[in-house]
Amino acid sequence: MANSTLPPGTAPIKPQFLLSLEPRAIPDDDAAEGSTSYTNTRSDAAIGGEDIEEGGRKLSGAQRKKYAKEDRKKQRGANKGRRFQKVRDDLELCFKVASGRQCEFGSECRFTHDVPAYLAAKPKDIRFPSSKDLSDSPPFVRLPDVEMSESVDAIRSSLDLTTTCALFEYTGECKHGLKCRFLGSHVVTKEDGELELVVDEDKKARVAASETEVNFIDAESLRKIRTKK
Ligand SMILES: [Zn+2]
Ligand SMILES: [Zn+2]
Repeated sequence: MANSTLPPGTAPIKPQFLLSLEPRAIPDDDAAEGSTSYTNTRSDAAIGGEDIEEGGRKLSGAQRKKYAKEDRKKQRGANKGRRFQKVRDDLELCFKVASGRQCEFGSECRFTHDVPAYLAAKPKDIRFPSSKDLSDSPPFVRLPDVEMSESVDAIRSSLDLTTTCALFEYTGECKHGLKCRFLGSHVVTKEDGELELVVDEDKKARVAASETEVNFIDAESLRKIRTKK
């Protein structure tokens, strides 16, 4: 063995697990996360040192300190660099129209009621196999034999008719309506070419009877719990 130089009784350790005494460069986490943190901004400021200016004029030591302090306060806390964005459609469809209902705001509605335009801009449905297409043996998922019928028009091009909406599968109705990314599984084309949402009334009734939560506390009891009397 190559470790013959080690004193007897020493367990050999692979070189990649040995800690080096040489100083190593510390990886810049902020660069990796694409943001800055207080520690970095301060060291930058320290490098710039004497030249911190506010609105073009030089700051006195006390003022600089004050700004640095406020800056530090703003930056305090963990994960400040994170931004959670709301996922939005490019064209936002009114949720009432999306679920096949009438919107009382009409043309005043701040969301679009233009279903064909919405569907034309909508990203393609997500392919999701139904439970009967899953199995315990390879290949585990049976892919639909029929390839997507080539997009008939802009409205239908986002639809994947072989996909499965789990919500619709289970409850017989999908509350997301036309906004659902598994829309292909619960929409039909009417004779006039328009899309119509499918509702499985039998399933809906069955689910309503068996799955509806009844274990709610009534408003009066809630009020009593909340008020100290
Ligand atoms: Zn509306
Ligand atoms: Zn759905």
